[in-house]
Amino acid sequence: MTAQIIDGKNFAVALRERVAAQTANLKEKYNITPGLAVVLVGEDPASQVYVRSKGKQTIEAGMNSYEHKLSADTSETELLTLISQLNADPDVHGILVQLPLPDHIDEALVINAIDPAKDVDGFHISNAGLLATGQKAMVPCTPLGCLMMLREYCGNLSGLNAVVIGRSNIVGKPMAQLLLKDSCTVTIAHSRTRNLPELVRGADIVVAAVGQPLFVKGEWIKPGATVIDVGINRIEQGEGMTRLVGDVDFDTAKEVAGAITPVPGGVGPMTIACLLANTVTACCRSHSIPEPQGLTV
Ligand code: NAP
Repeated sequence: MTAQIIDGKNFAVALRERVAAQTANLKEKYNITPGLAVVLVGEDPASQVYVRSKGKQTIEAGMNSYEHKLSADTSETELLTLISQLNADPDVHGILVQLPLPDHIDEALVINAIDPAKDVDGFHISNAGLLATGQKAMVPCTPLGCLMMLREYCGNLSGLNAVVIGRSNIVGKPMAQLLLKDSCTVTIAHSRTRNLPELVRGADIVVAAVGQPLFVKGEWIKPGATVIDVGINRIEQGEGMTRLVGDVDFDTAKEVAGAITPVPGGVGPMTIACLLANTVTACCRSHSIPEPQGLTV
């Protein structure tokens, strides 16, 4: 069997089109333009690339983009002051603080200072709690994108066995909550899990968010399973060249799985598209406007 390739780029294009259409609708009907503020502290090159890309895609969707680039020696108090100004700004519907923050700043303190209604990353403890209790939350972007693709490929997820490998607050845990909400039987695996290949072999859905290149092997996968590879790892491929690979050994897994996301071009493109979708959702909620369908779950 050769798996169907889940094309995250196409999914992201379609989602961004829905976001742009809803943004145009908000402008026309209500004279409101959704606004996303992105805060970057320091000069981490990868973070600078992400922030640039987020700003570009925000503007392309017709929304307002507010970028706040602060020097690496910005104090925690200065950052908290900026967050409180953004919380109070009616033109800002979404706030994202690019992680990681410099060591002298308490990340949890900063994230939990964001107004939960504007927390488009969905990392605030209130949003984590709302999601865990099955209530309306701002849903973290990467797992949200994964769920959208899973629903499209698997249809009704109810009763399916899902294994999520990884228990981080930004991917593994919210992913497991979303799958549980869709009535999957969910197992969360982590570095202390025993017999991981055996667990994965029983899964109709595998989500790998491990941070280890090519970790999940094809022989672990149940024939016909749907495999979502969240990992982004850069590996050497000789002569000073590198390439991006996921947490799944794509070449062996695609021979067994029913459907699989590639890396690059799978989960990655959906993450920013979901950030834009969350900004529109936050904007509608803040103005008590009915939420557009298909932008969140
Ligand atoms: P993380 O915080 O480092 O968490 C990794 C998780 O994997 C941990 O829970 C860890 O277990 C588990 N793990 C590590 N080694 C393991 C092993 N040998 N067996 C089973 N579990 C193991 O990473 P993350 O932030 O969730 O990110 C995971 C990957 O996704 C990374 O490659 C990251 O770059 C990528 N990512 C991609 C996107 C995107 O948009 N595509 C977004 C976010 C992250 P313990 O808890 O026991 O340590």
